Amino acid sequence: AEGAPDPLLDGLNPPQRAAVEYRGDALLIVAGAGSGKTRVLTHRIASLIRNREAWPSQILAITFTNKAAAEMRERVSHLLGGIAEGMWISTFHSACVRILRREAESFGFTRAFTIYDSADSRALIKRLIKDLQADTYGYTVPQVAARISKLKNELTDAETYARQANYSDPQDAVFSQLYQEYAHALQAANAFDFDDLISQTVYLFRAFPEVADRYRTRFRHILVDEYQDTNHAQYSLIRELTRPPRSNELEGVSSPGNGGASLTVVGDSDQSIYAFRGADIRNIVEFERDFPGAEVVLLEQNYRSTQNILSAANAVISNNFDRKDKNLWTAVGDGAKIVGYTGYSGHDEAQFVADEIAKLHDEGIAYNEMAVFYRTNSQTRALEEIFIRSAVPYRVLGGTKFYERAEIKDAMAYLTSVANPFDALALRRILNTPKRGIGPATETQLAGFAEREQISYREAMRRAPELGLGPKVTKAIVDLATLLDEAAELADPDRPGGPGRVSEVLTLLIERSGYVTTLRASRDPQDEARAENVEELLAVTKEFAVNNPGGTLVDFLTEVSLVAAVDELDDASGTVSMMTLHTAKGLEFDAVFITGVEEDLIPHRMSANEPGGPAEERRLFYVGITRARKRLFLTLAMTRAQFGETSVAMPSRYLQEIPGDLVDWVQSPGGATSRGGTQPRALNAARPGSSRWNDGPVYLPPKPKTEWANRVTGQVRDNGDLELVPGDRIRHTDFGEGRVDQVTGEGAKRVAHVTFESAGRKKLLIKIAPIEKV
Ligand code: ATP
Ligand code: MG
Repeated sequence: AEGAPDPLLDGLNPPQRAAVEYRGDALLIVAGAGSGKTRVLTHRIASLIRNREAWPSQILAITFTNKAAAEMRERVSHLLGGIAEGMWISTFHSACVRILRREAESFGFTRAFTIYDSADSRALIKRLIKDLQADTYGYTVPQVAARISKLKNELTDAETYARQANYSDPQDAVFSQLYQEYAHALQAANAFDFDDLISQTVYLFRAFPEVADRYRTRFRHILVDEYQDTNHAQYSLIRELTRPPRSNELEGVSSPGNGGASLTVVGDSDQSIYAFRGADIRNIVEFERDFPGAEVVLLEQNYRSTQNILSAANAVISNNFDRKDKNLWTAVGDGAKIVGYTGYSGHDEAQFVADEIAKLHDEGIAYNEMAVFYRTNSQTRALEEIFIRSAVPYRVLGGTKFYERAEIKDAMAYLTSVANPFDALALRRILNTPKRGIGPATETQLAGFAEREQISYREAMRRAPELGLGPKVTKAIVDLATLLDEAAELADPDRPGGPGRVSEVLTLLIERSGYVTTLRASRDPQDEARAENVEELLAVTKEFAVNNPGGTLVDFLTEVSLVAAVDELDDASGTVSMMTLHTAKGLEFDAVFITGVEEDLIPHRMSANEPGGPAEERRLFYVGITRARKRLFLTLAMTRAQFGETSVAMPSRYLQEIPGDLVDWVQSPGGATSRGGTQPRALNAARPGSSRWNDGPVYLPPKPKTEWANRVTGQVRDNGDLELVPGDRIRHTDFGEGRVDQVTGEGAKRVAHVTFESAGRKKLLIKIAPIEKV
């Protein structure tokens, strides 16, 4: 095939090609952002299949999000001209759910197990803390949740923990008990939490080697993207899968040397941003030790970004010590300079972003090629407000949390109760929703009854008459159990004539239970909105039926519980994507806005004092910068409203690390140091249709000619309590002379509304504006 044009290899540079064609047991590709790591994985899969070295069913590829998986699958089939059925391209979680559903019965679960999302786990932990009065030892829900999650990611289960706990320390003893009760409750509910999906699969493989062998025999090629963010449990899963199967009967397929699957991992230690969730950068560093003889391929050409963007990224990340220096370069050319903007407030910043988005759109960049990143979800509020007002079409990834709304949780709990009669958490949620006069005491009685009799919670409800409760309560419970039984019959995959659709099951539940009727009858306008959300969920189930002919209720529940934040991303839609920096990993956009580039946000306040915290935050910033193809905007505000308080914000320390000549700082629209240091941008030119007095931004002084370092240490102008009253005449360094019309606000937030002779009307923050009375 040498010399002949080859679509699989033509679009690759020599090291990329070498990686695609390598045929040994273990391959590690370490390379910076945008160097084609994901592309190499995709081409490698296609090449294996096309050359008949592997059946599609022998491939297991792990991506970071379901969305990335879908994209990879599509590209592979595109490269192959359509034959790619049977490949497992998925996230760690999805792959494990598939395995667990098949094997659940062999270790005490049923295939219809529930997957607890973090809200479910927290609800359970909250109850356990209360039951064990663990709050008296200072335990809080987030604390316990984080600790359990961490232990699970380290493959320390509750029993193991109990064996090593320090019982002379009451606090530790209580935690150990919490952990055990938590594990017990999950088991009793036939449920796994998110971390269990991985760790339980590892335990399964270790406990049942014959089960593990089935998967070891099946998967001959395992490929992992974003390897730098795998945690110990995920790493162990990979190790289990790449061991040689004990019986080694492979049919007509050349097997790599040792009989274990071949393993390809790609990653960039500079993009490791999940250490807080137990991701272990050592997995990549120690790969060569774990897989002796592994081939290592380095990629150095970046195909994504312009030189200016890449130089900024390289400069920032080079401040992390303890890393191998990379030589990332691009042939794309310098491109536009990075644009920096300092707003007065989060609103001002948001307005700038909205204006720039409108301009970029006019220049021909599609909305879905633009993205706005932030460090914390709370930053979206100001952005959303302005985007709505400025008619910027946007969508928040992972922020809307449709599935976290109470009414959606209620409806999902109905469905879960049908699929999994053991799920006490779901059943307790719906027991008195809508109100049926079933109180918490009854609830606890039912739970105790189920536990004593070793029966499912639903069975306990059916047998409620044995509990000697009042006739009204008993009837309410039995009626609900009957409804759930009926719905379960409708949803049963073995039902003659096939199972009813999920939408039919849901309709039956919400109508017969009176859930929607109650919402509709309420006079609270919020309940009307809630009813609409439930209708929306009904629409989701209908869409599911169209996309998954034959899909069962359990399939639906699995899909919903695994939708990761980024999966809502819809390329076809013409919307700007808003997401956290964490969610942005692996993605790319023509234009990227990183907002809130301030101390306390990036680096985040919580991480600033943790060992490794600032370095991890720097990597996060690096991830953000390297998502941009052509245009990058770094924005910040001088004051930021958070948690109902407005505080003064300082520029992020990382800004100093970007060479000054790469960035054009636009202090504020109309400010003297506007773009390129040339013509000030007039207010009305910058923001068509927004000349209304009260809408205008507050004007900040031009950036001091000092270094950013000085800004960080807070060296800004301070006029103290300069007295101004309407009628006063003032002189401004940039705008010249003007007359004060009005003074609003108090203290440090006093604003002067001024009409300048030549510059027109402006609002100035009195404390720091470069003004003096004349
Ligand atoms: P990240 O670290 O951000 O995940 P990555 O290393 O996975 O990045 P890719 O997403 O695979 O990089 O590639 C970045 C961009 O460069 C993509 O648009 C990809 O199609 C393009 N690209 C990669 N290699 C080449 C090449 N040899 N020729 C042309 N374009 C390429
Ligand atoms: Mg990638």
